[in-house]
Amino acid sequence: MRLDSLAGNTALKEQLSAQEKGRGLNHAYLISGPVGSGKRTLARLLSAAMVCTGSPEKPCGSCPGCKKAFGGIHPDVIQVGEDGKDISVGQAREARSDAYIRPNEGERKVYIFHNAQNMNPSAQNALLKLLEEGPAYAAFLLLTENPGSVLSTIRSRCETLALTPVSPAEAEYELARRFPQHPREQRHAAARRCGGLLGQAVAELEGQEAGDQLQEEAARFLELLAGKSKLDAAVWCVFLEKRTRDDLVRLLERSLALLRDALALQRGASIMTASPQELPAVQQVAALPAKRLLSMAGILEKLRNDAAFNANVGQLCGGLMAGINAG
Ligand SMILES: [Zn+2]
Repeated sequence: MRLDSLAGNTALKEQLSAQEKGRGLNHAYLISGPVGSGKRTLARLLSAAMVCTGSPEKPCGSCPGCKKAFGGIHPDVIQVGEDGKDISVGQAREARSDAYIRPNEGERKVYIFHNAQNMNPSAQNALLKLLEEGPAYAAFLLLTENPGSVLSTIRSRCETLALTPVSPAEAEYELARRFPQHPREQRHAAARRCGGLLGQAVAELEGQEAGDQLQEEAARFLELLAGKSKLDAAVWCVFLEKRTRDDLVRLLERSLALLRDALALQRGASIMTASPQELPAVQQVAALPAKRLLSMAGILEKLRNDAAFNANVGQLCGGLMAGINAG
């Protein structure tokens, strides 16, 4: 099998490859491991292999079956509970009746159950019936962080695939493959921090953390605007000069969107952007006179436009400071 895009877990990959070459893949797997250990990656690879119509080494990655499966649009690969909500007994029953409808395109139908540990006993029992009585072409991939919370009757009908943390070297190798544009030191640090849970490092590099930090900073900026001390705001602007231009532009844009939310709040309209962590700052700034908010929004808008015409970080921060002092 072609399982290279799952990092580490060499023994598990060899075991699956041997099984596929021999008696063929199983009809039910319980894929277990902590958040970020690769459960979704492995489920994606196995489901693609099951609907692959290409070369003997599956998933080939280039046949229509693989392309659709990897693109998340294969009609015979069915995700249950992908939204992170608990799977209800209704959803389990729906999967059960769906399983009796023959595959649309391939020879198999694959059901991926996310967070299997969060299913209540009646939902698990409906799933158990499906595992016991489902048609031969149906395959099941159950994903769980905690196999102990899955009914033993379900576990006994599945082959357990336990994912293990990868080594720092394996994590770094995989991050280099996926994020060649990131500086090497950043990848190295992310690989070290993730404790072998590659998904966490990937999330970090994909900027989830950067997003959180951005929200925190935009909220802080609004609080400074609402506050009385112009000195505090000025100190903050000096601190911003260490940023890259792109970072600064993102911050200007986020702050501008929050200012618009504050204006909407004043008019009694609904807010569009603010996350729960930004809301208190938006409410605080909404207490300022509308004239001041509009003038600040004008300044931020002008700076953002200047940035598009290659103004440097120093100029932008200078403009911001002047705007705050005038406000
Ligand atoms: Zn294929």
